[in-house]
Amino acid sequence: MSDDDDGDESGPDPLHRACPACGAGDLEDGYLEDQGDSSLGFLRWIAGPIVMGRLGRAKVDRHRSIWRVQALRCPRCRHLSLYTTKRA
Ligand SMILES: [Zn+2]
Repeated sequence: MSDDDDGDESGPDPLHRACPACGAGDLEDGYLEDQGDSSLGFLRWIAGPIVMGRLGRAKVDRHRSIWRVQALRCPRCRHLSLYTTKRA
């Protein structure tokens, strides 16, 4: 185990992968925007099952693993591939 305090992912950069749908190699980097009220502006992936609060919103336990979602677009077939990137 390394002492990785910036929370970056390990492993190969998803940008260098081929499109899983058509095999093209030049995926476009991007993310999914969240325009909701008081949102952070981007979507996050949260480990574990969803837990609903009393106000009808999902409750986020800060002990969960939380990651930004990276969305890579294939310019050839328009397939969208989702990956987790930096911890959010
Ligand atoms: Zn493709």
